[in-house]
Amino acid sequence: MRPFDTILVVDWSAGKRAGVAPRKDAIWLGLTRDGIGQEPQYCRSRQEAEQAVVELIKDETCAGRRLLCTFDFPFGYPKGFAQLVTGSDDPFALWGWFEDRITDTADGSNNRYEIAEILNQMFEGEGPFWGKPDQDKWPDVPYRKAGIRYDLIAEKRTCDSLSKASSSCFQLAFPPTVGGQMMMGLPMLNRLRRLSGVAVWPFEETQHANVVLAEVWPGLIEGAVKAALASQGKNAIRDCEQVRLLANALARLPVEQLAKHMAGVPSIAKEEAWVLGTGLSDELNALARNMRPLRNDCFALPQGVHWTPVDEALELLRDRLKPIVATQILPLAQVSGRIAARDVTAVRSNPPLPNTAVDGYGFAGGRGDGTHRLPLLQGRAAAGDAPTVVPAGHAIRVLTGAALPDGVDTVVLQEDVSIEESHVIFHGRLKQGANARCAGEDVQVGDLILQVGRQITPADLALLAATGVSQVSVRVALRVGVLSTGDELIESGETAQAGQIYDANRPMLLALLAKLGYEAVDLGRAPDNRAELRKILDAAADQVDAIITSGGASAGDEDHVSALLKEAGALALWRIAIKPGRPLALGMWQGVPVFGLPGNPVAALVCTLIFARPALMQLAGADWSTPQGFQVPAAFSKNKKAGRREYLRARMRDGQVEVFVSEGSGRISGLSWAEGLVELSEEAREINAGDLVRFIPFGSFGF
Ligand code: AMP
Ligand code: MG
Repeated sequence: MRPFDTILVVDWSAGKRAGVAPRKDAIWLGLTRDGIGQEPQYCRSRQEAEQAVVELIKDETCAGRRLLCTFDFPFGYPKGFAQLVTGSDDPFALWGWFEDRITDTADGSNNRYEIAEILNQMFEGEGPFWGKPDQDKWPDVPYRKAGIRYDLIAEKRTCDSLSKASSSCFQLAFPPTVGGQMMMGLPMLNRLRRLSGVAVWPFEETQHANVVLAEVWPGLIEGAVKAALASQGKNAIRDCEQVRLLANALARLPVEQLAKHMAGVPSIAKEEAWVLGTGLSDELNALARNMRPLRNDCFALPQGVHWTPVDEALELLRDRLKPIVATQILPLAQVSGRIAARDVTAVRSNPPLPNTAVDGYGFAGGRGDGTHRLPLLQGRAAAGDAPTVVPAGHAIRVLTGAALPDGVDTVVLQEDVSIEESHVIFHGRLKQGANARCAGEDVQVGDLILQVGRQITPADLALLAATGVSQVSVRVALRVGVLSTGDELIESGETAQAGQIYDANRPMLLALLAKLGYEAVDLGRAPDNRAELRKILDAAADQVDAIITSGGASAGDEDHVSALLKEAGALALWRIAIKPGRPLALGMWQGVPVFGLPGNPVAALVCTLIFARPALMQLAGADWSTPQGFQVPAAFSKNKKAGRREYLRARMRDGQVEVFVSEGSGRISGLSWAEGLVELSEEAREINAGDLVRFIPFGSFGF
């Protein structure tokens, strides 16, 4: 089977049109395309949702992508029902029956209870449908189930019993109201199935269909949904998380497994339909739960290495870390600083039409040496005017940016002409095409203008806007928590007792992360107490995508960050050949990567810039990037020993780079003084004033 490129999960509803604010029990669309989960879409009405699905089918088909569209209501009734209602076992006859009778208005009012009455009247004695919002209405639909005998037609389908679903196709009120959703959904399915390339599973042959419609049941991943909701707090919307997780899980089910499952349903499914994924609940739950693609050992260093060179450590981060955030589509105004989740191509050429680069007079063809005199047309072409027509041998006044009129390809500067008796007079030579810009000379429609992984700049916005792009698929901003550890720390603003110091790292790191484009989350301070720290990390893991701690990262008695990570079986103590720097404690806490920085503020900043910054970029979906440095003359002299790579606090003055008076790593004033770092490679070196050294401005780190 050809794998599906795109998976849609629709959480359907039989209710009235929903409000503007996204909420549960409305319609939600979850989409995973090329393995990348999109932000679920909230739909206020069935009409809106149907249109979105129709457009998706069109778009994916045009792009040659195979699409699986799934819906969370039954595609068929228990055996025998279709025959009784339509005289045929064909489930599509029943779909048609509903399509002919169901009415649905834009505000969501519909006739599903009247239709249930008609259906119940077809049965001798009590019909199978029950449940209604109003005891006194629809006399042929009982309020309660009590007394209904499901002897002619079963209450549940074979697959409902098998997957232990609590719902029945015949229950119309009191959640789960599957019966009503189904009545309001089958007419839509019947319209969708008539679109070209669409087949319905398991009623039809779907092996070769480009678009497959199938039934799903989010109950199959209830465990994963519960866990996700618990970790997201009270603002999470169940339906939204459900479609997000199910679309992602289905997308990651191995194609052979899915193919085998789709081909292997029992024959009764041809009449009753079947829930896609029945029997695969464990696999789907695991896939849905384990959305974080990082392994617990992702920071492990090769055995036996004592001092890891900086480049080797960086290579390891580059190899092992992957994007861990979802994607969403945002309008241009909101994407500055975000990371592109897909390549973007120009929707329109720039310039869209040939135009003039100057104020002057336009005509056709170049002119040789000598004086030229052309009759001047009335009027002018200004920027924003639609192009007119200029006959051969005539000229017209044109203003900068104006689209060239038909028949004009060359412009003479207004400073170079004289005007006499409605003629324009100038001297050659003038090349054909002079002072004119060709259509698309900057960007052609379809050109790649933004690459996946790029952090979007203000200048990118100009390019996107000019080429007709109005929205971009971007990564959701990575949430990075910042925690300071140490009994000695107090908050700025508090009164310091002897032995206490102010927490300097947290304000620095929070501000730095915000500048780098992340959602910086303040996790506060933790005392040197393992139980307390554990509690804080537990809570943080539910709240953020990555954690940066400072202090307590070595292997001493009070180094609780490394001790806890070790206990969790996910510590890699990185001893890197870098100065300033002490060991880094890298690890995973409940699936969340933790960067344990040294407490010393100078080391904390350098380690953040050199290690945490590129690592976070990988997690956020950005390209790997090496900060740009420049070879500049030193304004200092220094004798550097072999072994470690050194970073000196530095700044440029008068074309030379100077370094801070002291290399002491406790000197926070030097951080504030500096405007960048001098990077000295591992080997020994004697530096004299005037020698070239590598200077990396803080701007190259994005801060
Ligand atoms: P540690 O890595 O916990 O051994 O801390 C190393 C040094 O950095 C100690 O002198 C700490 O007091 C200091 N330090 C740790 N965290 C901070 C912080 N958030 N702000 C300022 N200094 C700190
Ligand atoms: Mg400490």
